[in-house]
Amino acid sequence: MPESNSKRRSERKFGDYGGQYVPEALMPAIEELTDAYERYVLDNEDGFMDEFRERIRDFGGRPTPLQRADNLSERYGSDVYLKREDLLHGGAHKLNNALGQVLLAKYMGKERIIAETGAGQHGTATAMAAAHLDMPCEIYMGRRDVNRQRPNVFRMRINGAAVNPVDIGRGTLKEAISETMRDWATTVETTHYVIGSVVGPAPFPAMVRDFHRVIAEETRRQAEEQYGRLPDAVVACAGGGSNTMGIFSDFVGDEGVSLYAVEAGGSSLSVDEERGVAPNSASLSTGSEGVLHGARTKLLQDGDGQIMESHSVSSGLDYAGVGPELAYLVDEGRVNAVNVDDDAALEAFHRLSQDEGIIPALETAHALAFLEETDEDLGEFVVVNVSGRGDKDLEAAIEETEKRDLPNAPDMGVFE
Ligand SMILES: *Cc1c(COP(=O)(O)O)cnc(C)c1O
Repeated sequence: MPESNSKRRSERKFGDYGGQYVPEALMPAIEELTDAYERYVLDNEDGFMDEFRERIRDFGGRPTPLQRADNLSERYGSDVYLKREDLLHGGAHKLNNALGQVLLAKYMGKERIIAETGAGQHGTATAMAAAHLDMPCEIYMGRRDVNRQRPNVFRMRINGAAVNPVDIGRGTLKEAISETMRDWATTVETTHYVIGSVVGPAPFPAMVRDFHRVIAEETRRQAEEQYGRLPDAVVACAGGGSNTMGIFSDFVGDEGVSLYAVEAGGSSLSVDEERGVAPNSASLSTGSEGVLHGARTKLLQDGDGQIMESHSVSSGLDYAGVGPELAYLVDEGRVNAVNVDDDAALEAFHRLSQDEGIIPALETAHALAFLEETDEDLGEFVVVNVSGRGDKDLEAAIEETEKRDLPNAPDMGVFE
């Protein structure tokens, strides 16, 4: 593909998915961002990508290891390797995107950063990146989430960010996103909105993927160096889909590499249309086409197009939509959309902790649970993206473990 003189253009649509379904007031900001993305990220103008790579190395701690999991390998009879994004600064893959976007905002001459957050992981990554790059930062967070996620609220505030509780609606991520969009519409001149996954209007899905692509670049190189070839299968958990697209992006063209996006099956795949509740977050497996947060994609909605309340034991997967490119790759048959339920994820959480000495995020536990649950032969060489570490989930893991009779949980009676 010749790209020497011709400027590379950003992808606005992925098949029928994606696009820019935003109010007129936001179009100037979207156009300006598209221009900046093409110049700085795609064309490396002013050495932007060089500075990004240097900072994600020195501040973020890249490259992260690709580690052979000896005990899991023995259990599954394949060579199971873990891409250790849990070792990235902040404890999850999220910093790749947050740092990339805050740096881009700086190159664009913006003076202020805003972001939304659900459980607080993206807000925390954004607050860290903003502190590192000396940018004022405000995070919108639903009131209910503020009350449930006190440690993360303090992490953001300690890093100098203001946290704005959102009282409308149910006080969760969905309302926080709407409120951040509203702020952006009136402050576009000075402000950049750091979206937290491969979702939202173009250019966000492609841009966020490109900041996370470093995961795939490293995995590819490390696989060649350590194993002498590319993996047979790559497995990642999918909420919005940013760690998934990050580790898949450089393998999409390699037909020998099977790609598995593992969604949260929650407590059940069935939905309660009457009450507008889906007890899962499996939008790729069970959702239908619609528009959410500026893009056409697969989502959990009722017959009238109302967004359903989703559920997962892991807050980071608890989202009614999914990135448009991932939805497209699933429709094309390139990515396999699979899901595991809450119980299987919790078992996997304990298994990785006990067998490998790595406490995974509950999100990541879904990807690991797939290895246990699937009947498919994944091949000799399997890579799992360990999107984050589980320290943030200890409270939830204790509570959810106590509710269940898991075959491999430690004795919780120590608290009595
Ligand atoms: C936020 C988060 C996710 C889900 O987000 P994606 O955009 O789907 O990657 C997964 N794992 C961890 C550890 C997270 O913090």
